[in-house]
Amino acid sequence: MSGAPDRILVIGAGIVGMALAYRLQQSGAQVTVVDAQPPGQGGASFGNAGAISASSVAPLAMPGLLRQVPRMLLDRAAPLHVPAGYWLRAAPWLARFVAAARPAAVTRATAALDGLLHLATEQHMALVREIGAPDLLRPHGQLYLYRDAAQLAKDRASWEIRRAHGARLEELDRAAILALEPAIGPAYTLGIFLADHAHCASPFRYVQALAAAFRRAGGQVVQDRITRLATQDGRISGAQGESALHVAEAVVLAAGAWSARLAAPLGYRIPLESQRGYHLDLRDPGLALTRPVIPADRKVFITPMEGALRVAGTVEFGGLDRAPDAKRAELLYADLAAVFPEARPARAEGFWMGHRPCLPDSVPVIGPARRVPGLFFAFGHGHLGLTGSAPTAELLAPAVLGRPLNQDLAPYAAERFVGA
Ligand SMILES: Cc1cc2nc3c(=O)[nH]c(=O)nc-3n(C[C@H](O)[C@H](O)[C@H](O)COP(=O)(O)OP(=O)(O)OC[C@H]3O[C@@H](n4cnc5c(N)ncnc54)[C@H](O)[C@@H]3O)c2cc1C
Repeated sequence: MSGAPDRILVIGAGIVGMALAYRLQQSGAQVTVVDAQPPGQGGASFGNAGAISASSVAPLAMPGLLRQVPRMLLDRAAPLHVPAGYWLRAAPWLARFVAAARPAAVTRATAALDGLLHLATEQHMALVREIGAPDLLRPHGQLYLYRDAAQLAKDRASWEIRRAHGARLEELDRAAILALEPAIGPAYTLGIFLADHAHCASPFRYVQALAAAFRRAGGQVVQDRITRLATQDGRISGAQGESALHVAEAVVLAAGAWSARLAAPLGYRIPLESQRGYHLDLRDPGLALTRPVIPADRKVFITPMEGALRVAGTVEFGGLDRAPDAKRAELLYADLAAVFPEARPARAEGFWMGHRPCLPDSVPVIGPARRVPGLFFAFGHGHLGLTGSAPTAELLAPAVLGRPLNQDLAPYAAERFVGA
C-alpha cells in the first residue's frame, strides 16, 4: 500500500478511538468506528475523573515502589489493592512494574510521556472548539492537597520531574488553599496548584460530541463486538465481528483494556492489565468546587462535573471479567469526608467501575504494528487516557494516513515488550 488507505476501521469508540477517528475522517479519509457499545459507554472513557493533566509525565512506577508492595497485597483499604485471589495472575505484570521503577526506565518513560502530553491542554482546547463543544473544558487548574510537609516530601521526586519538564507549580499554604476552595477541611495544610491544567465537565459527553462531529464529517459508527483481527497474505484485511466482517485497508486497535486480547493471536503478547477504578456521582453534595481537588494521601480525584460532584479513584487489580466490588466504591465516601467534612452525607445513586488500560512502564502503545502491515495500535493510556486522547490523535493520524510524521513513534512501539 502506498499513500492513504481507502477504508480505515477503528476498533473502540472510547475517547482514544473517537478522537483519532474524528481526526482521520476530518483529514479526508473514509473511517468506520466499530464498538460493542454506543460511543463512550463501553469503557473507561465513560466515567473517569475528567482531569486533563498535561504535566503528569512521571510514570506510576517510581524508585521506592518495592516498599509499597506489601500494603498493596494486604490492606483492603489501600488506594492500590490486589485481591488475594488475583495476585498470582497479577505477579508477572507487577514484576515488570517494579522493573519499570529503575532510574533509567523512569527517565525513558518520562521522556515518552512528555513527548505525548506536553501540549495536551492546548490540543483539547482546540478539539472541543472544533467539534462545537467548548464548554466541556474548564481551564481552572488542579489542586493537590497534603496533610503536612512530611507527606509532601514523599512526592517531591515526581513533582521535581514535572517541574523539570516545564510544569508551573505553585506551593500553597492553608490560607492560599482556602482562597481557591473554601470548603477544604482542616486536615490539609499544604497544597500544590497546577494553574495551567484543566478538566472536562463530562467525559461521556466529550465522547458523544466527538462521535456527533465524526458523523457530521461523514464517518460511520457501527455496533458490533469484534472477535478477531482478519489478515490476508500477512497484512491486515479488516476485523471479524459477531455480526459481520468489517473489511478495511487499515485497522486501528483502540479497544482500551481489551486490546491485548485482540492483538495476541497475531503474535503480540502485550502486558496490558486492567487497573480497575471506581466513581461515585453525588448530585447534591452541598459543595461547589471550581476545579479537581486531589488529596495526595488518598489518591482520588474530586471533580466538579455537570450535575454532580464526582469522587473517582482507587486502583484494584482483578482483570476484565470479575464483577465490580461495591466495597471498593464505598471507600470513596470516606475519601470525600476526609477532605470535605462538611459535605452532605447524601448517597450516590449507585457506583461505576471502569478498566484503566495499564502497561507496566505507563507509556501507551501508539503506532504501526511492524509485523502486520496496515495494523495500528492506540491503547494502554492507563490513568491518563482522557489527557492522552487528543495528543494520540495528532501523533498517530499522519502514520495511518501515510503522511510524514511529526514525531518519532519509536518510544511508543509495541515491540519494546520482549516477546511482543
Ligand atoms: C476511575 C477512573 C478515573 C480516571 N481518571 C482519569 C483522569 O482524570 N484523566 C485521564 O486522563 N484519564 C483518567 N482515567 C483513565 C481514562 O479513563 C482511560 O485511560 C481512557 O478512558 C481509555 O480510553 P480508551 O478509549 O483507550 O478506552 P475505553 O474508554 O475503555 O474504550 C474502549 C472501547 O473499546 C470497546 N471494545 C472493547 N473490546 C471490544 C471488542 N471486542 N469489539 C468492539 N469494541 C470493543 C469498549 O466497548 C469500549 O467502548 C481514569 C480511569 C478510571 C477508571
